[in-house]
Amino acid sequence: MSIFSQPGFDNHEAVHAFCLPEADLRGFIAIHSTALGPAFGGCRVWTYADDGEALTDALRLSQGMSYKNALAELPYGGGKAVIMRGTRSNADDALFEAYGRVVDGLGGRYITAEDVGTSVENMRSVAKFTDYVSGIPKDDGYRGGDPSPVTALGVFEGMKAAIGHRFRTADLRDMRVAVQGIGHVGYHLCNLLHEAGAKLIVSDINTANTDRAVEAFSATPVPIEDVLKADADVLAPCALGGILNVDTIGSLKARVVAGAANNQLAAKTDGNLLAVSGITYAPDYVINAGGIISVAAERDPQATKERVLNAVMRIGERTEKILRRAHDENASPSEMADQMAREAIAKAKAQSAREAA
Ligand code: NAD
Repeated sequence: MSIFSQPGFDNHEAVHAFCLPEADLRGFIAIHSTALGPAFGGCRVWTYADDGEALTDALRLSQGMSYKNALAELPYGGGKAVIMRGTRSNADDALFEAYGRVVDGLGGRYITAEDVGTSVENMRSVAKFTDYVSGIPKDDGYRGGDPSPVTALGVFEGMKAAIGHRFRTADLRDMRVAVQGIGHVGYHLCNLLHEAGAKLIVSDINTANTDRAVEAFSATPVPIEDVLKADADVLAPCALGGILNVDTIGSLKARVVAGAANNQLAAKTDGNLLAVSGITYAPDYVINAGGIISVAAERDPQATKERVLNAVMRIGERTEKILRRAHDENASPSEMADQMAREAIAKAKAQSAREAA
């Protein structure tokens, strides 16, 4: 395995491999960029086929965090940790304590938090050995803890901007919105959409989750295989990544896609396919940044609920700017978001080079 030719390698500043067999701990921390500040991103525990697959995941996810943090105007770069699920059936305290020591060894260049497969409790174990950990609740709901209501609010603001761009109205009344995945974020998003007068179409592999939305919001449930092609104005993917691809894009009826799920595009080229298909796509990492804004606030002693909410409300403006610039420069919104993130990172690098000179 070669790091520099690995899929997902993008001139990452550093990649740390760790292996502590006594704690059943193996994985990678990829630091994509620290140009804007310490690399900040969650820790994923997943079953990988091999270490190459785990490394690719860490490389791609850490680049995504650089872009997400840059466009959210956070003073952080991008990093991500992946832990390869080992032979023990469940990751335990000893594993996360050992992981905490690994994170601490990086001296603050990387700050960790939850991601898929990790919990607040796991981060408490990490925190026994390092201060470079977030995602542990503070005294109010806008500083740490469960970020999903804040994420949903950002997605809602981004969706309104995309609707305004596509349909020339940000009024959600009677707009048909299909939500895939009624979990933490999906449910809060349905609530906001319902309050704004939207008509909801919902789908989840867990029928208890759809039943809850049917009852609370008079939503119409659809089978999981039908939600992407539902007769809707807007599709909000709030479950899985990779759902926008060459096999699905042709059958979408919605003209706007705006949801919380990370990595919705199976490939970068799928952003162009959406654009040529006449579908307005609100880039996922732009509109789902409420979670990282909330988690980052834990590390900011000046952070208040008001400041966090203001930062999240700016997601709407930012989405609008990306969509407008994409239109003017004949690019897809996903290409434009990537370009704007790279510009912000390059500007920070140039600034620190000037300061060092
Ligand atoms: P969650 O696990 O609470 O919810 C996901 C829901 O999707 C679950 O109810 C699950 O049953 C459902 N689901 C899974 N596969 C499905 C399928 N094929 N069809 C329909 N439903 C399916 O997760 P969450 O915290 O709500 O996050 C949702 C997405 O948003 C994830 O992709 C996550 O990475 C992303 N995200 C979340 C946050 C946050 O603050 N939680 C922040 C940024 C991005």
